[in-house]
Amino acid sequence: MNPLKARISLSAYRHNLKSVQKIVGPKVHILPVIKANAYGHGVLPLARESLKQGVPMLGLGTLEEGLELRRAKIAAPILLLDGIFKQQAKSAVKYHLTPMVTALDTAKELNRLGRRENRKVSVHLKFDTGMNRLGFTLSEAENALKEISSMKNIFVEGIMTHMASSSDASSPQNELQLRRFEAVLSLAKDAGLNPTWIHAANSGAIINFKESHYTMVRPGISLYGYPNAKVKKAVFKAVMTLTSKLISIKNVNAGEGIGYDATYVTPRRKRVGVVFGGYEDGVKRALSNRGSALVGGTLVPIVGNVCMDNFMIDLSRAAFARVGDEVTLISPLHAAISAEKWAELCGTISYEILTGIGNRVERVAK
Ligand SMILES: *Cc1c(COP(=O)(O)O)cnc(C)c1O
Repeated sequence: MNPLKARISLSAYRHNLKSVQKIVGPKVHILPVIKANAYGHGVLPLARESLKQGVPMLGLGTLEEGLELRRAKIAAPILLLDGIFKQQAKSAVKYHLTPMVTALDTAKELNRLGRRENRKVSVHLKFDTGMNRLGFTLSEAENALKEISSMKNIFVEGIMTHMASSSDASSPQNELQLRRFEAVLSLAKDAGLNPTWIHAANSGAIINFKESHYTMVRPGISLYGYPNAKVKKAVFKAVMTLTSKLISIKNVNAGEGIGYDATYVTPRRKRVGVVFGGYEDGVKRALSNRGSALVGGTLVPIVGNVCMDNFMIDLSRAAFARVGDEVTLISPLHAAISAEKWAELCGTISYEILTGIGNRVERVAK
C-alpha cells in the first residue's frame, strides 16, 4: 500500500559501470562506492549487481554499513571509506572489513588484533594531499609509512587519497594533489610497500584526469547517473525513478491559500491534487512553489509549501487526473524533474537530493 516508490534500474546501473570501465580502460579496476545506502538507492541490490559484474571490492562508508552487508551474506572484500574508530577495530577484524586507516593508533590496534589471530589485517592507508579532511598529512607520511610497514600483522593492500576539486577540470588543485600523491607513493616504495590498489579518483577525476586512475577508481555519483563533470549525455543514465500517488483531489475557489502559510493563493478556481510524500521523504521544502511533478505525461507545478508528508500540485493542465494516479517526482526521462534539476532549485547538489530520499520510500530494484 506504500505509494512512495523508488524504482532502481539495474540495467542503467550496469550501463554506468560499463561506461566507467570504458573511460578508465580494461586494466583499471572499479570500486563502486555504495555508501549511504548506495546514495539513497538501496544498498543490497546494487552491491549484488556490482559483484555480478566482477568488481573486486565494494566501497562502503561506516563499519555499520559493512556489517549490514555481512549480515546479508555478502562475503566480498569491503573497504570502509569513512575509516573506523579505534573501538570498532575488533568488529572490523572479526568480520573481515577492510578499514581505511588515517591514524597510527588505529593501525597499532589492528596490528595487535591481527597478532592475536595470527594473521595479517588488510588496510588501505589514506593520505591527505589537499582536501584537508581525513588522512595522514604530507609531514606525517614518511614516519607513518615506516611504522606501519614494520607492523607484522598489517597488510597494506592499498594506498589512497581523495581529490577535492576534480569536478572542475581547470582547477590547479588537481595537479597539485596528484603531484603530492606521487611523492607519497615514492615514500611508500622507499618503505618497501608495493600495494595492489592505488586509488585517487572519484567520478570527477575519472572523467577529467586520466593520470588519477592508477590501479583502481572509486566512482559514486556517476554510477547513479549524475556524473558531476562534463560528459556526453548518453554516457551515464539516471538509475532512480521516484513515484508516488495522488491521494486526494479538490476544487478550490479563487483567492484561497494552499497549504501552510498560504504561500500560494489561487488566482482563479483550480483543481488541486494532494500527493503523498513530503520533506521527510526527501521532497525538499525548497521545492515549494518551484518544483514540478509529472501526472500522466503532463508536467504540473507544485503549489504551496511542501509539507512533511504531502505536497500539492496544480491540476489545471491535467483534467484527466484521478485519485490513485501515479505521480512521478524524479525521472531519468525528463530534465525538468531530474535529481539535478531538484538540486538546482534547492541550491544544492544531486548527491544531497539522492541521499535525502527517506526511509519510508520503498526501493524496488529490477
Ligand atoms: C564518496 C566517495 C567517493 C565517490 O565520489 P563521487 O564523487 O560520488 O564519485 C570516492 N571516494 C571516497 C573516499 C568517497 O568517500
